Amino acid sequence: MPTRVNRTLHLRRVLAPLVCLLLGGGALATPVTGVEPAQLVLFNGRILTVDPRDTIVQALAIRDGKIIAVGADRDILRLAGAATKRIDLRGRTATPGLIDSHAHIADGGVEELYHVHLSDVSTVAEAVRRVQAGLAVLRPGAWLQGDGWDEGKLAERRYLTAADLDRVSPDNPVWLMHTTGHYGVANSAALRLAKVGASTPNPTAGTIDRDAKGMPTGVLKEAAMDAVLALAPPPTPEEQRKGILKSIDTLHREGITAVKDPSIAQPVWDAYVSLLNEGKLTEHICVLWYAGSTLASAQAALKAISAQPRPPQSLGDGRLLSCGVKIYMDGSGGARTAWLFEDWNKNSTDRDTGNSGYPSTEPEAYRRMVRLFHQAGIHVGTHAVGDRAIDWVVDTYAQVLAENPTPGLRHSIIHANIPSEHAIQVMSMLEGKYAAAYPEAQAPFMWWLGDTYAANFGPERSHRLLPLNTYLKHGIHWGGGSDYSVTPVAARYGLWASVERETLKGTYGAHPFGTAEAVDIHAALRSYTIWGAHQLFLEQRIGSLELGKDADIAVWDRDMYEIPSPELKDLKCELTILHGEVVYVAPRP
Ligand SMILES: [Zn+2]
Repeated sequence: MPTRVNRTLHLRRVLAPLVCLLLGGGALATPVTGVEPAQLVLFNGRILTVDPRDTIVQALAIRDGKIIAVGADRDILRLAGAATKRIDLRGRTATPGLIDSHAHIADGGVEELYHVHLSDVSTVAEAVRRVQAGLAVLRPGAWLQGDGWDEGKLAERRYLTAADLDRVSPDNPVWLMHTTGHYGVANSAALRLAKVGASTPNPTAGTIDRDAKGMPTGVLKEAAMDAVLALAPPPTPEEQRKGILKSIDTLHREGITAVKDPSIAQPVWDAYVSLLNEGKLTEHICVLWYAGSTLASAQAALKAISAQPRPPQSLGDGRLLSCGVKIYMDGSGGARTAWLFEDWNKNSTDRDTGNSGYPSTEPEAYRRMVRLFHQAGIHVGTHAVGDRAIDWVVDTYAQVLAENPTPGLRHSIIHANIPSEHAIQVMSMLEGKYAAAYPEAQAPFMWWLGDTYAANFGPERSHRLLPLNTYLKHGIHWGGGSDYSVTPVAARYGLWASVERETLKGTYGAHPFGTAEAVDIHAALRSYTIWGAHQLFLEQRIGSLELGKDADIAVWDRDMYEIPSPELKDLKCELTILHGEVVYVAPRP
């Protein structure tokens, strides 16, 4: 026989969302007597709960890291005792902690700490000066690595080349990764060490960029990068750990409390585990293991993943999840290597004749890999940018699900940049029937890569980029994300880009991708909260502020539901709470 208190609590659990709704976000629930008081209450705010009704409340109460009540100030404050910490939101807006369904935070943190930064250079000369400054502190022969350049942001609107770099780097190999991570430029010293010369053939699924005489320019795309990347020294275990901590600090500053880190290998997993064991992993991290591009590499990844708990089981109470595997179907919209039905464009209206990209994994091998994982009950995230690649991926998911209809594995299409109508139909069907085939989309591509993307996709195809509004119409949920360090990690950029669809520089006009596929902030926020949580296997714990969920909360300087949408980009996070603990407070201005 439940006691009266227990019955009240039970009713509250069931009825609270409804009660909040009925009272317009006002009162919740009966005051609780004889129950331990809350440890923390947030009150006097506008709390966007992102529950199924998009309820807005004034206050919430937290105990043992969980939300124990949401509702009106007068009811929530009654749950406070003498020892309860109270945070007066002073009218500010709070949301669930934001969730990034695709961010390379382990790698990105290492880049921030140990590599030369090129994401903000606007001329070739400036990039060369940064390399020169970086080399000044290196011994001869040591590798210099840099990241983040993008020809779309350079005044010259051309690739960096080995010739640009050689005059400042005669004695050191240099590798500068493009912001997309799908191509980069090596200097001649690095090309020599990697044995890339005029007679080197393109590898399968890779491109050695060449000048008119057939000489390598230094730019290497996709699998052609491997020869150089195999020689550049990886981070030490300590550098890897410091990189993750650097990223976690940045995430907290931006109100982000959960991330899916795709494409990791054992050293990164080990770094996460060691930080978890030291109590330093103050973030929900769900990882995808890199599965390579062959059945043999897939079997090796399956072995690594089989040693870990299956999601939603985790290490460290929801802190670290071994979520599944990542496979690459194609390349990038930046490098014009993504696999398309029709040839790429250049400079918006020129044709890149004969180049429609290519698969980065042999398509039939890909299908066998997916079948292996699906039959083992493992979540698969597949990188697919081009329409032809996306079709192959969703058709593969449909096939393995028809063979073995296991629901709930949430297989995803990472990026899903220009899905065909067919792909959209299949996504809609598979989401509804099997909870599979979710796009994990990066709205910030339209901004940060937008000028390069508009040049390469061309005027017509560009309108099909990231069709978020079409997804809504088809009932397709997607996870939002940054693909950091491809774009900056702050989710506010993605919220903004989902609504505004503007490019950084407006080289081909402010809206080469049109505005028909824009969504409102309510949908955008869902993609960075509850829909993202689902892609991390954590929707029972995070992604909305509801009874029983983890108290992961971000407090903002403005109300994202009320401000003019151009301002979304400039939102400032003032407070971040993870599992009921304050992990970030903005300094007072
Ligand atoms: Zn990525």
